[in-house]
Amino acid sequence: MGFLNGKTAVVTGSTSGIGLACARSFAGAGANIVINGMGAPGDIEKERAAIERDFTVRAIYSPADMTKPSEIAELIALGEETFGSVDILVNNAGIQHVSPIEDFPAEKWDAIIAINLSASFHAIRAAVPGMKTRGWGRIITTASAHSLVASPFKSAYVAAKHGIAGLTKTVALELARSKITCNCISPGYVWTPLVEKQIPNTMAARRMRRDEVINDVLLAAQPTKEFVTVEQVASLALFLCSDNAAQITGANLSMDGGWTVA
Ligand code: NAD
Repeated sequence: MGFLNGKTAVVTGSTSGIGLACARSFAGAGANIVINGMGAPGDIEKERAAIERDFTVRAIYSPADMTKPSEIAELIALGEETFGSVDILVNNAGIQHVSPIEDFPAEKWDAIIAINLSASFHAIRAAVPGMKTRGWGRIITTASAHSLVASPFKSAYVAAKHGIAGLTKTVALELARSKITCNCISPGYVWTPLVEKQIPNTMAARRMRRDEVINDVLLAAQPTKEFVTVEQVASLALFLCSDNAAQITGANLSMDGGWTVA
């Protein structure tokens, strides 16, 4: 028995990294899970089955593409139809592209704004009516230190994450009397495939070696000189689902090794 028994969590972008850690931590507290994201079908099925086996909950997979509003609505409907409710929504799917503004491909801008920002709007919009009917809900979005500060060559990502900070505050105010909280978590650098994949482009944009990018660009931003872990982000997300977090709403919670206070 866990404090999320009988509840359902939809976690977008949970086939890897932070999302997968959130899905597993909610399952550990007893929630049924809808996982979502891209990847090889065999790998996704392994992760889904492992959640059911390790935590004795039910877990289903939705391939909804976060660039497609109709598929996002279907994702929420799938959770509600399968488990009877979507009580927790984690908007986590995200991509990155690093490029000087004058070379930034327009299609990358559109994809980052769609996945990292607009998908949260569509998912929240679809999940809120059910949460309101049941009088309880938790909405958590994975923002970023880049919701508070900027870095060169990340125009789309920084714009999208600043947008998440604003969306979070607005939705929190609208839902303040409904026992639904809406918060975002802003990690610094977390060692996941998203960070690993951006290293070659950053090497090219800054004309640096791989070790220089890791130490002089990524960790340079974090006074602790350590990467955040996916488990640390997931445990904050889990806390936000607890009754003790009922009065935390509209917050942008930093977990960045001191990056944004420096
Ligand atoms: P990741 O690459 O490990 O995970 C991203 C997830 O999003 C994957 O499951 C992927 O399949 C999914 N995804 C990508 N495009 C999708 C689409 N069109 N439809 C559905 N799913 C899609 O990366 P991560 O680091 O775990 O990132 C998760 C979130 O955390 C992102 O929003 C990212 O911006 C944010 N974040 C990451 C870091 C970091 O340093 N890793 C720091 C701050 C914020």
